[in-house]
Amino acid sequence: MRRLPIFFLLDVSESMVGQPLNAVEEGMKRIITSLRQDPSALETAYISIIAFAGKAKVLSPLTDIISFYPPKLPIGGGTSLGLGLITLMREIDEKVVLKSSTQQRDWKPLVFLITDGKPTDNTNEAVREWKENYASKATMVAITLGDYANVSILKQLTPHVLLYEGSNDDDFKRFFDWISASVQSHSQAIEQNRGDKTGIDLQKMGTILKEISDEKSSNDTPNIDNNTVVLTGRCQGNKQPYLIKYEKAITELVLQKYVTGRNYKLNGCYPITDEYFEWSTKESNHEINISQLDGFPSCPYCANTSALASCGFCKKNMCISGESVAICPWCNKKNNFIFTDEDFSIQRGKG
Ligand SMILES: [Zn+2]
Ligand SMILES: [Zn+2]
Repeated sequence: MRRLPIFFLLDVSESMVGQPLNAVEEGMKRIITSLRQDPSALETAYISIIAFAGKAKVLSPLTDIISFYPPKLPIGGGTSLGLGLITLMREIDEKVVLKSSTQQRDWKPLVFLITDGKPTDNTNEAVREWKENYASKATMVAITLGDYANVSILKQLTPHVLLYEGSNDDDFKRFFDWISASVQSHSQAIEQNRGDKTGIDLQKMGTILKEISDEKSSNDTPNIDNNTVVLTGRCQGNKQPYLIKYEKAITELVLQKYVTGRNYKLNGCYPITDEYFEWSTKESNHEINISQLDGFPSCPYCANTSALASCGFCKKNMCISGESVAICPWCNKKNNFIFTDEDFSIQRGKG
């Protein structure tokens, strides 16, 4: 039986923290469950998951559906799509048998790229390599989660670029069911000896996915994702890290116009582990003025009412209970926190 290799290239950048990341994690389980019930997928489909944030790694090497166990997804700072593509291409080189006189060849691989933001690394080399050597050997479907910003790069990789327009958990479930259905119809088609010349048979998309045929213009601020602001902090009690996520107010996205004032609304404050730093690009020098932020979270670990206090020495964020003396969990220096009416800037991640 010839194998049908299926790669999921997943964006696990910090802007995915919270609901989107949970939904993708649940979605992968859902895909596996549904493919296990399909005889042709069961025989042919092999799954691999590659994740990218500031760094990119293979989370699950190519594995048959029965043995596949969906991994817990990490989270990191940065959206290094270029590194993600390179990791994917090396994995295809190593694991997929495209030409061989002694071994059975694999079917043309399917790649589902799911991303929510604009790449923060230089993608030129990787995109060029993909176009020259891989675009004809693999079928890629790129899905962007409610964001036009990166469409022009995705359009260079594949003609199949889709915009996900769902808004809740049920929409996400339907989206992953759509991926399963597309994989199933594809594996059935190649089994019925129709081969894989025709490319992927994308199932009827419904209202949550929209095919993008034209290249939307994008506002080109390199190396930073401006739809979300993500701040890293640590609890002064247990010293564990957390992410505070703000999202650009929807009305502003629609109007596409920059207004001064509080542009970013609090989405939530999420506990993370130190693994985050292994998946992140080095220090981010980007800052945001707190006057742009609407809503301030409490610490997700302890009873402290503010998770957004800036250390006077290392400038990193920590939780505090109010005006107090507190040791910074990042640099161990003693701060004397007092409230101020003045606006100040704090460090933010790349997104
Ligand atoms: Zn705390
Ligand atoms: Zn400090």
